Order: sequence, then structure tokens, then C-alpha cells
Amino acid sequence: MTEKAKILIVDDNPSNRLAIRVILKGINAELHEAGNGFDALTMALETEYALILLDVQMPEMDGYEVCEQLRADARTIDTPVIFLTAAYKENSDKMRGYSAGATDYLTKPLDDHILKAKVHVFLRLYGQYQQLQENNAALTLAASVFESQQGIVITNADNIIIRVNKAFTEITGYSSDEVIGEDPRLLKSGRHDIDFYRGMWQSIQNAGTWQGEIWNRRKNGEIYPEWLSITQVKNDGVITHYIGTMTDISEYKTAEAQIHQLAFYDPLTGLPNRRLLLERLQHGIDQCVRDDKLMALMILDLDNFKPVNDSLGHLAGDELLQQVASRLLERLRNIDMIARLGGDEFTVLLENISHADDAAFVAENIITDLRNPFYLSLEHKEVRIGVSIGISLYGQHGTTPQLLMDHADAALYKAKGNGRNCFAYFSEDLTIAARKRIELESRLRLVIEREELLVYYQAQVDIASDKIIGAEALIRWQKPIDGFTSPGQFIDFAEETGFITTIGAWILRETCRQGKQWLDAGLPPLALAVNVSPYQFHHNDMVSLVAKVLEDTGFPAHRLELELTESGLMENQNKTRVILDNLCQLGIHLAIDDFGTGYSSLAYLKHFPISTLKIDKSFIDDIPSKHDDMAIAATIIAMGHILGFKVLAEGVETPEQLAFLQEKGCDSYQGYIKSRPLPAREFEQLLRKQGNLLQ
Ligand code: C2E
Ligand code: MG
Ligand code: MG
Repeated sequence: MTEKAKILIVDDNPSNRLAIRVILKGINAELHEAGNGFDALTMALETEYALILLDVQMPEMDGYEVCEQLRADARTIDTPVIFLTAAYKENSDKMRGYSAGATDYLTKPLDDHILKAKVHVFLRLYGQYQQLQENNAALTLAASVFESQQGIVITNADNIIIRVNKAFTEITGYSSDEVIGEDPRLLKSGRHDIDFYRGMWQSIQNAGTWQGEIWNRRKNGEIYPEWLSITQVKNDGVITHYIGTMTDISEYKTAEAQIHQLAFYDPLTGLPNRRLLLERLQHGIDQCVRDDKLMALMILDLDNFKPVNDSLGHLAGDELLQQVASRLLERLRNIDMIARLGGDEFTVLLENISHADDAAFVAENIITDLRNPFYLSLEHKEVRIGVSIGISLYGQHGTTPQLLMDHADAALYKAKGNGRNCFAYFSEDLTIAARKRIELESRLRLVIEREELLVYYQAQVDIASDKIIGAEALIRWQKPIDGFTSPGQFIDFAEETGFITTIGAWILRETCRQGKQWLDAGLPPLALAVNVSPYQFHHNDMVSLVAKVLEDTGFPAHRLELELTESGLMENQNKTRVILDNLCQLGIHLAIDDFGTGYSSLAYLKHFPISTLKIDKSFIDDIPSKHDDMAIAATIIAMGHILGFKVLAEGVETPEQLAFLQEKGCDSYQGYIKSRPLPAREFEQLLRKQGNLLQ
């Protein structure tokens, strides 16, 4: 609210002042009085007057001097001053008065109406002036807001930009000329989907405002985060404008990221620190609980780090730790987490592993990697260190982050105690089993080049004629290690490690080579059967492999039979069918091995191009004591024949078994009663000795 206007009446004669008061009675202004020039000046400089009525004739300081002094001060330079002058001196006073800065003059004795009218005019002017002042202040305020640090964009109701401020230009790179008339959409970064913008507009429509973080694009193409608030402006219920204010928060974001980096990462290596590790560990545990998964935590402690650090200095030590970190990163899949706990201790978190041993394999690889020398560029020196690793498994060794850490730590001490550069699980039996498997795997990788594999041949005999019509190729490892003596275990392990594809290809080639050699040596033609494991069947391009081996060795396709298991055929049936058809196209035969142990029905197998069923040994074993088994064997033979398969019985050891099979019309058999699997040379002798070969 505007203050009440004030009028200063200056006259040395109190009755004159009173007279003026009387005339101005009822006017909307406060009336102040001064009895001399000095007082008038002092009051005028202290208080803002709408008007000063100034008597010219005063002792000591007259009206001219007062006026001149008023005009000399910024505070009163524009204050309206009406000179009150004697009528007889009107002309000369008027001139002097104006030059002293008077605004107007009145002659004494004062005319009531004229005085009143003039005072009114000045009061009205003063009112307007004040209004103006206030508006100006508001305008300046608005302008300063508009030129704030925040970018401001104003659009009309159609969302067309009508005004932007300087900060907007600084943030976005667009000058006002470039954006006025445009849609603010031109700032779109492409980072948000339609739903994001839809939600934003919904909030503006419903609540009249929206604010939040948004990614926009500067004129130079750069994408940046900003804090944006949009407000709808309404006039009488009708939307007239939208005002957007934006703050570039990219620096804040960077700072935030830096804070995050400091809080969760090790500054030396850039690896996650203990805090982040514990978070991830908890997260991993939650996942294990939910999805029933396996997870391993490894704690690594460098061997021989301290001597390097002590002798070459901390800078060299730092460089070494950085190099260790990058070797670890190179080795591990990116879903694994490597953290540095401090000093020369690191951890590796293996989430979602499929076997407890997987951790041991990773540990072994890390040990091998870190064994290689490190070149320290600062010292121009090559150094060698080692690493010991302790492993704990979620579930078996703990279900909380702390327990897993503690137990991995305990395992680490065991590993160190075992003589460094090795790993240990928290439980001894796992360590032993894992070490054995690792040894086995590394030996397995060398079996072929070291020529440790052999193929044995077991005769397949025609029941009606008792003649050897073929042989099954069975793998033998000449130097098996503990626990892997039987081919079954060996094959299982090779399957798990995927190494079966190498072994499978080798035995196929070796068998065909041998078969061709026997043919060339004039021995009667035999069918040779080679086992194909499910893993090999699905991971090798069997069709190309078989075609290539047949071509390379010259062994006739129709003499080769591949033995597949039911479980191998159940997987991915459409694809399986295509592969089987293509194999048949090559001219080879297919047999189902261990028939009766899987889930597939005879009717189902009918859809595949299979020629032989091999009844599993378990159905033969208890003939003639178990009637159930006998019934099953008899049924398989009968049904197999109806469906057009040849039937072979596996593991025939006794004359009773053989007699039963013969009675039931089984086509052929394999078994110790005729021959165990034999090395190639002995099998050849068996063939020659029998002399009753099919020719
Ligand atoms: P399989 O294919 O069912 O082979 C028959 C197994 O029965 C052979 O065992 C053979 O020695 C054994 N056997 C044959 N007659 C008798 C008998 O009268 N009595 C007894 N007790 N056993 C008999 P082996 O050689 O130990 O092979 C075991 C399994 O290992 C094989 O079963 C086969 O599944 C797998 N296998 C062997 N060699 C290979 C290979 O080269 N590749 C693949 N993928 N698997 C192979
Ligand atoms: Mg077999
Ligand atoms: Mg079998």
C-alpha cells in the first residue's frame, strides 16, 4: 500500500502556516510545518514530501537558498516546490524562484481555490509517480528473475516458445532468435520414451505443474541432465502460457558420480571396494535364495608382494597392484565382480556358477595368470609374485556376507599353509575333489597329443549264425588317474568339460581309419559302431564331421553306425530330426544305445531314421531269474521288430541269456560270453581265428 502523501509548509510566520492548514483541511495528505529555512531543509532531506510550499521571504535563509540546496541533493532534486511570494514582487521573484529550482509559484495572499487546486494537481502527480516507482521496482525484480542463473523458457498456450533468457542460451547453446517460434521439443535428447513425456504433460494438466530430472540435448548435440520445472499460467481459467525453468545439473551429476566413486571404489585400482563388495554379496545371496543358484566367494592374497613393496618402494608397489587388477579383469567374465579389500588382498565373486568346482577352475586360471612376471615401468624391473586363494560357497559355507567372507578367509589361510600359489575351499573334501578334477582336466587336454587314448573293439555277433558281424568301438584311456578308471566316468567328465567333442571326433576318425585298414587287408567287411555323446551330438556339426572323416579315411558309409542315447534325442527334437536325416543321407546307420533306460517310447522312436535298438545290459543281467526283465526284453524284441528295427542285446554273459534271446528272435548281441572289448590287434586275431567270417 502506498503511504499517505506528505506536504511541508514552510513559513516564518505561524499565522500564515495556520492559514494554509485551514485551506488544505480535508485534503488527503499529512501536513508538516517548518518555521525557518534550516528546519525546512533538514526535514525535506529526511522525509519524502509530495510537495513543499515554500515562503520566499524568510530571515537568515530565504526561500531561494532553501530551494537551491534542495535541488543540490539527489533525494530532493525532483520534489515539487511551490514558492509563496508577495504579489507586488511577483515578477522579479518568479524569475529568481524558477532559476533557484521552483516548480511553481503562488502569490500572497493566497487564493483558497487556487491553492487547493494546485495542491491537488501535485498530489495526483505524486500518486502517479509513486505508482510508477512501484511498477518499476516490480519490473526490475521480474527482469532480474528472468536473468537469473536458471534457464527460463516461456511458451504460449500452444507450447510455442515466445521468450527465453540468457541462462537458457548459456545452457542450451540456442540464442533466443533460434528458438522463438519453435517447440521446446527441439531440446529432446531421445533418452526418454513417450510414456515419460506423457506423464509429464498429465501432471501439468492435472496439477498445473511438473518437475523432475530430464535429459535434454544442447545445440552442439551434447546430452545433459537438467532439473526442469514447468508451470502452467492461467488467466481466468484459460491457459495462457507455460513457464519452464531449468538448471543444468551435469556438474552436480559428475560430483555425485565422483562421490559414489569415492565411496564404493578403490582409488588406486578403480576396483570396487569392500563396501560395494558386501552390497553385491548380499544381492547375490538374495538371488541364490530366490533362484536356487550357486555362488562362490574367493579371497586372494598376493604372495611375495611385501618384499617387492619394501625393496622397490610404494610407487612400484602401487603399479604392481594396478597390473594385478587389470590381469584379474582380463581373466574374468564381466558378470564376476573383482574387488580390492585393501593392501594386497582382492576378492572375486562368482555368481551363478553351475558346479562347486567351477570356482577352482577360475582360481587355477588366476594362479596361472599371476605367475607370469610383471614388468614395473617405473623401476624398469621384472618381478614375480604369486597368489593364494581361499574359496567359500554360498549355502555350504555360509548364508550371510560376513560368514562367507570369514570362511573364505579361513580357507585362504589353509591355502597359504599348503604352500602358496594354490587354492583351498573352506571344506577339505571339496578342495581335494576340485584339485583332482583340475589335474584331470589338464591331463585330459593332453591325452590326444600324448597318444594316451586307445580304441577297443567288442564283437557284435549274429545270433542265428553265431558269426561276428561287427564291432563297437569303445574308448580306453591308458593312464587313468584315481577315480577315473572306467570309461563311463572318463566320458562323463569329458562331457562336463566339453572336451568330449575333441575325443569323440578322434575316436570316430580312428575307428574309420582302422576299419578301412582291415578292409584293405582283406578281412571281411564289418559294421563298426561308434558312440556319440549327447553333448557332442548337439555341439559338433556331426554331419560335416562324419562326411569329412568318411572322405578322409575312405571307409564306406554304410559300414558305419553311430550309437545315440535316448536322452540325446529328446533335446530339441526338430533340430535333432534334421541332423539324423542328414546323417542318413550320408548312408550311415543309426542305433539307439542303452535302450529301455530312457523315457522314450518305441512309438516315438519310429519317427526317427533308426535301424537298430540296443537293449540295455540291465535287462539282460537277470535273465533267467527275473521274470519282469525277461518280459521287458521279450517285449522290446517283439515290438522292435514290428516297428522295423533290428534288435541287439548288450552284456550277454551266460548261455542261458543267449538261449533266451535266441528263442525270442533277437538279432544280435555283444557280451563277454563271446568276447570282451579288445585292442585292435587282438580283435583282428579273434576274427582270423574264428575263421567263420561272413564273406
Ligand atoms: P555302451 O556304449 O553301452 O558300451 C557297452 C559297455 O558295456 C562297454 O563298457 C562294454 O565294455 C560293456 N560290456 C559289454 N559286454 C559286457 C558284458 O558281457 N558284461 C559287462 N559287465 N559289460 C559288458 P565300457 O567300455 O566300460 O563303456 C562304458 C560306456 O562308456 C559305454 O557304454 C559308452 O556309453 C561310453 N563310451 C565308451 N566309449 C565311448 C566313446 O568312444 N564315446 C562315447 N561317447 N562314449 C563312450
Ligand atoms: Mg555303446
Ligand atoms: Mg550300451
